[in-house]
Formats: sequence, structure tokens, C-alpha cells
Amino acid sequence: MRPSLLDPLFAPVTALDGIGPKVAALIEKIVAADLTNRAARVGDLLFLLPNSVIDRRNRPGIAFAAEGAIVTLEVRVDRHQPAPRGNRSAPYRVYAHDDTGEIALTFFHAHAAWLEKALPEGETVVVSGRMEWFNGRPSMVHPDHIARADEAAGLPLVEPVYPLTAGLSGKVLRRAIGQSVARIPALPEWLDEDVKRRRSFPAFADSLLRIHNPADPIDVSPESAAWRRLAYDEFLAGQLSLALVRNRIRRLSGRPLAGDGTIVDGVRAALPYSLTHSQENALSEIYADLARPERMLRLLQGDVGSGKTVVALLAMARAAEAGGQSALMAPTEILARQHLATLAPLAAQAGLRTAILTGREKGRERAEVLAGLADGSIDIVVGTHALFQEQVAYHDLVLAIVDEQHRFGVHQRLAITAKGNAPDMLVMTATPIPRTLVLTAFGDMDVSRLTEKPAGRQPIRTVTLPLDRLDELIGRIRDAIADGQKVYWICPLVEESEEIELMAAEDRFAMLKPIFGRAVGLVHGRMKGAEKDEAMRAFKEGETRILVATTVVEVGVDVPDATIIVIEHAERFGLAQLHQLRGRVGRGSKASTCVLLYKSPPGETAKRRLSVMRDTEDGFVIAEEDLKLRGEGELLGTRQSGTPGFQVARIEHHADLLETARDDARELLAADPEMRSERGEALRLLLYLFGRDEAVRLLRAG
Ligand code: ADP
Ligand code: MG
Repeated sequence: MRPSLLDPLFAPVTALDGIGPKVAALIEKIVAADLTNRAARVGDLLFLLPNSVIDRRNRPGIAFAAEGAIVTLEVRVDRHQPAPRGNRSAPYRVYAHDDTGEIALTFFHAHAAWLEKALPEGETVVVSGRMEWFNGRPSMVHPDHIARADEAAGLPLVEPVYPLTAGLSGKVLRRAIGQSVARIPALPEWLDEDVKRRRSFPAFADSLLRIHNPADPIDVSPESAAWRRLAYDEFLAGQLSLALVRNRIRRLSGRPLAGDGTIVDGVRAALPYSLTHSQENALSEIYADLARPERMLRLLQGDVGSGKTVVALLAMARAAEAGGQSALMAPTEILARQHLATLAPLAAQAGLRTAILTGREKGRERAEVLAGLADGSIDIVVGTHALFQEQVAYHDLVLAIVDEQHRFGVHQRLAITAKGNAPDMLVMTATPIPRTLVLTAFGDMDVSRLTEKPAGRQPIRTVTLPLDRLDELIGRIRDAIADGQKVYWICPLVEESEEIELMAAEDRFAMLKPIFGRAVGLVHGRMKGAEKDEAMRAFKEGETRILVATTVVEVGVDVPDATIIVIEHAERFGLAQLHQLRGRVGRGSKASTCVLLYKSPPGETAKRRLSVMRDTEDGFVIAEEDLKLRGEGELLGTRQSGTPGFQVARIEHHADLLETARDDARELLAADPEMRSERGEALRLLLYLFGRDEAVRLLRAG
């Protein structure tokens, strides 16, 4: 049960003055992203931090206030000049002066009564707003703030500016946030005293108060002590919840899995190549984990093409030696089928029985797979998340492998945990996530890295080309195809709409068709499963030589003899995505090319990204650059939102806090696994505040 202390923050935002259902709906659009299926709460507003300030400290006097400047003026009201009757478009003017000159405060569609009250003739008032000069006459149209001289202390001289959404006024939002800050109850400190002192962190409530009522623009910088404190809180909540899941997964410990090596050797004998050093290392680490009585919780990180699949197969072979079943989950159906196509022949040579289970298997086919899983006649099953749905029962699932699953929810982990005898878990990711991000996305998992590419790979040449030189490119592609090569043609990413993305792909297909005829194929996310398979098969077998694709479908697809990849509107993609896509080529023994088509002129960040892509193929370097560029995007003001999955923490500013938070969480749970100490109880509050109450429930399930 949530401590009642937190109730004021868990009330719906409509509990605040001036917030009705309409405004609440607008607020829902800008507070924490995970609000999709609940109403916005008062507490959500706390973490909606300003992205800049309006500095109103400039008090130059009327005559010295520059055109366009935000200024605060102390003036004496002289006279009102209402709009002439019947002329709605003429403004209502209030003339006022200070020692330096006279100013017209200008209002359109004014309420005379309100103005007479706010700006009584003969009174001294403080107004703040933007200066405008018309024909040498100073004016201020609709001052942002008007206060009597004796109330002027209440003016926000440094005013926070929040991310807005259409229809929601800054004023309404500021008021709502002010009320939510005022509702913060007296909370015990959950931070370790030492961490707090060393980093000069203010208290939780003080931090929020400071950021929402800044005294200086510095206060709303992510580098301020107040913001860093909140980022640390958020990291700590995240690390605690991941550690709780991990403890639970570990506690439901499986059994040691060992084998005599016969099946593993059988698979190895079937391989047409020998493993790389990093593949061998990863396997030894995995075998050692499997042999231990605690559950394995390991991340296998390896660039695209580094050969994770065969490592997975050899891990599953060991599980089979121990008499158990394995499941390999891929993010898409295409990938699942591809994995099966790669694994099945190798597995068969070692006497292993394989099957596939996705949303597409229906009727008798599906019934047969389910029966085989239930009676243990299937050793290895490959599929999508369908593998872990409730209706699927395993005879003895001992190893669950998840491929290319970048963001892996706690729910999914627990769904897998619920199957079988607490299976060992291996998560494979093709995104070479920097160390710090591994922590946020996966928590404290053991990590194996594949750092080499299989022998015999050629480097990929990367070129950038403006879109207006498309004709030239098409000429080159014609030559390449005549030479027997295969081309992926990736259509632009359109974040706003899958429809438009689809249209872009269809348009490009229609444009290439008259040129290349039957050599062009098309695959996109809206196709039916069988159509997709057919398009992939035709490309793989060389019936088509150019495959036009949207980004959704093809990630991870293996066509080793594809040597060219064209990425349209490359400037719209992030570095990680570009790197992933480029990895579709360079998988065979022939030299490959990646063509990044961009719309010129590219912006600063896009330019940098394209040049990073030209300069390196090292996924870990690219990942670090990505992190840096994201930070810069923010400095350039191009970036709106924070780090995905976080409300206040920005990985590019706060990464240094992560490991401390991880250690802190780990030590706390080691000393107080049930979180019953004074600090443990306080930390439960933190978990609730950052929406990690799922983890609190795990504590109870104990
Ligand atoms: P990943 O999943 O890491 O992107 P894959 O497992 O799909 O990479 O492997 C890419 C290709 O490399 C596959 O065609 C696979 O057969 C091949 N491969 C894997 N390991 C080796 C190796 N040690 N030597 C040569 N080829 C390999
Ligand atoms: Mg793969």
C-alpha cells in the first residue's frame, strides 16, 4: 500500500485550482511519457522541469529599454485611453512614465474594469514584458506581469519556461506547478548522508523548489546541484527497482546446467567456420554461468554481424545437454524466421529438434508446437513474444534468450521468469550501448562483449551524397547490378506517421521500377507475413537485386551477399540507427558500400553524424559519439525531451552519477534486502515518487 503521506501528490491534477478536465488532458501530453494509461497526477508536475528561463532582471528605465528586450519597469500610471466605442480592433492604452520617459501600455480586446483595477491612475506599478518601439515611441503590448509597487517582490524576476503544448498557456501551467510544489509533504531524507554531503545535494523538496522558482538562470541548468540531486534520485529509484528484479530473478534460482559436451561438439562440427576469440570468451562465460546454481542474467553485446546467433545456439546446445529446453525470442517475425533458418540445420546435425512460434502460427501448426513444448519433444523454440504468452507451457524451459531487444521492460522479464523453472537469461543486443547506458537500460547485468568481427570481413566504404545527385547514384547502381551485386534501399524515417513512411517507400519503388524492372522488390511493415517472407526470399535468392524497405522490417536481416545499402534522408536518423542499418552490408567476403543520401543543407548535428559515420565503423566509438552529440543537440536547442525513460535525468549531463547510484542501491539491498530499515522505508517513498512502485510489489511478493 502506498504510504498515505504521498496522497497529495497522487491526486489527479484536476484537484488543483484552475485545472479542469480540458487542461488536464493537455498536461497529460507533456508530463512523463509513461502516462499513456493513467490520468496525470499532481506529482507528475513536479518533474516537469523548465527548459529555460525568461530573465526579467533587466531594469533599464523606459528610455533605455531596447526594442525587443524583456524588461521590468517601475512606472507611475498617468491616464487611461480606452478604445473608441465601436472600434474593436483599436487598442486600449494606458500611459505611464518614469524618470527617463513615457510609455504606452497597450491592450487589445481589453477589459476596462480589470485594467482600471490593475493600473489605477496615479499609482506606482511594476510591469514586465517585451519592449516595442513604434516611430520612436516606446510601448509594451500586454505586459506579462503587472503588480502594485508594494507587491512587486512577488514578481518572478527569473521566470521558468516549461515545455508547452498547443492550447496550454504558460501561465496556467506555472500556476499548476506552483501548487504541486506547495503540496510536497514533509519527507524523510532517503539519500545516503555521505553521498549527499560530498555532492552538495540539497534536500528533495528544496531542489524542486529551487528549480521551479529559480533565482538565477543557472538554477535551471541540468548541471545545477538541485537538478543533479533529482537526477540522482531518479537513477537511484531505477537502480533499486532493477536490483530488486534481479534479486528476485536470482532468488528463484534455477539449477546448475552441465553437459558432457556431445551436443555442443556436434554443433561445432557442423559450423563451416571456427569461432572468433570473443565468441569463445563469451561462451566460456555463459557456460560458467549455466553451471552455477544461481540464475544467469547476462547481456551479450555485439555489433551487427559479430556473430551472436551462433553463440546463442551453442548456449542452447549446452542447455539441451543438461536435458532442458531453450527459447530464443526475436523482436520481429522476420528475424525469428531468419534465426530459425540459420539454426535449424546446424541444430539438426547435432540431433536437436527445433520449432517456431510467432503470432502467425495458427490452428494445427500451432497446436503441434504447443504440444511439443509441453511434452519436451522440442529442444529449441524460436519466436516472437508469443513465446512467453500465458497459453504456452514448457516441459522444462531452462534457458531464455532475447535477441536485439533494446529496451526490455520489467514486465517482460517477469513474464519470462514465470515460465519454466526460473530459466537462465541471456539478452543479446546489437546496439553497442556505452557502459553507462547498459546500467540504465539493463541494470546490473553481467556483460559479455563481442569485439571482433568474424575473419574475412571487408571494411565498408561509407559515402555521403546530397539527394539532388540521385541520378548519379542510380547510374552507379545500374553498374553494380550488372556486376551481380545486391542493394538495400532504405526509405526515410518519418517519425510522425507510419503512413507517410509507407508512401515514401512506395513512391521510391514506383520510381525505380521503370528503371530496373523486375529486379526491384519492396518490403514494408504493413505487408502480411507471407508477403514479407516472399519479398525477403526473392531478395535473398537473387530474383530481386534491389530491395526497397522501410526501417521497421529489415533490421537484423541477414543477406550476406548484399553489398550496397542506400539510406535516404540519412540526416533524419540517429547514429545508432545508421550504424545498425549499415551493418546489413559487409557481412560477406566482398567489399561493401554504404551511401548516405541527405537533403542539403544538413543541420549542424546531422553534419556531424554523417561525418562520424564516414570516419568509423566501430560501434562502441559510434555509441559514445552518439551520446556526445545528443548532449550537443540539447545545447543547440534542437532537442526537446530528455533521455528516454527518464523524467529529469539527462544521461549526457548526469552519467557520472549512475555508478554511484548503482553501488548505493546494491549496498542498501545487501544490508537491508526487504527495505525495512529507516532508510529503506524512506527509499520506498522514492520508488513511488518515480513510478517504480512495481518494484515495491516485488518486495512484498518476497
Ligand atoms: P549478429 O546477430 O551478431 O548480427 P550473426 O549471428 O547474424 O550476427 O552473424 C552474422 C554472420 O556471420 C552470419 O552469416 C554467421 O553465419 C557468420 N558468422 C558468425 N560467426 C562467424 C565466425 N566465427 N566466422 C565466420 N563467420 C561467422
Ligand atoms: Mg543477430
